[in-house]
Amino acid sequence: MADRSGQGVVVALQANYLEVELDPPHQAIRLLCTRRTRLSHRGSAVHVGDRVRVEAIDLDQGRAVVAAVERRHSWLSRPPVANVSAVVVALAVEEPAFDPDQASRFLLTAEQTGLQVKVLLTKCDLISAQQRQALSDRLKGWGYDPFLMSASTGEGLVGLREWLVSQPLSVLCGPSGVGKSSLLNGLLPQLRLRVGAVSGRLRRGRHTTRHVELHPIGPGARVADTPGFNRPDLPKDLRNLEVLFPELRSQLDPHPCRFRDCLHRGEPGCGVSREWERYGIYRRAVDELLELNRPTRGG
Ligand code: GDP
Ligand code: ZN
Repeated sequence: MADRSGQGVVVALQANYLEVELDPPHQAIRLLCTRRTRLSHRGSAVHVGDRVRVEAIDLDQGRAVVAAVERRHSWLSRPPVANVSAVVVALAVEEPAFDPDQASRFLLTAEQTGLQVKVLLTKCDLISAQQRQALSDRLKGWGYDPFLMSASTGEGLVGLREWLVSQPLSVLCGPSGVGKSSLLNGLLPQLRLRVGAVSGRLRRGRHTTRHVELHPIGPGARVADTPGFNRPDLPKDLRNLEVLFPELRSQLDPHPCRFRDCLHRGEPGCGVSREWERYGIYRRAVDELLELNRPTRGG
């Protein structure tokens, strides 16, 4: 590398260092980098997923200096990852039992990014073929076409890998215990992430201390797992809620209601059907947000 500079992606943060993976053909090379003073002034302005220019590359020592950050085309705040292209939501069919309410919180959070959302139904080895079909159809009714997965039998891994390889950067999220680490281990055998038991208080701290890291899965394709959390907050923006339900979104073009600001709760001239499974979840979310946004009396 004669000019000793190059382009790459920040794949991990380590105390004051950034780990940068160089672009192909050097992708296997990871460099431990400091930042130029100009960049450190902006504190934590460089994040995992950022595309950066590195200088003063020392291949023998595996060191370099990050000199510039390219503009991000997307930003995920929780966990902080730049330039994500797709969000993969893992939901277990059993252990823990499929919970439409919790699943929807994860899906709404994923939809809020505006990025492509893919659903994985995990631990499919625990249910019958008939039950899988039923769950898969149910998710289709929600507007998703899920992959049926089992880390135990390896089912679905080939299809998932194929899908991930076509994405520059996917983030894997979902409740803890659904098998995300097991799937990543299945996809990336060199990884050996710790796999935990479903229950137990001790597990709670496990993910919170782990930092986000990007793992290469193909040329120009990476995948990140996220620290587990079990109950994402509902989106705060009431006006935006309707577009976060794909099965409602598809009813809104062309807009079927008399009033543009219709919340589809039986207002005059509302043209939205109530014959969809998650209508109740949508209604409860609207009510919860209306309650939150209600001006406090005397305040
Ligand atoms: P994470 O918290 O989402 O990363 O989940 P883990 O990968 O740590 O798995 C949680 C538990 O589920 C562990 O006890 C795993 O052995 C178990 N598990 C993971 N994948 C499967 C699967 O496909 N089938 C079954 N039956 N159990 C699984
Ligand atoms: Zn309406």
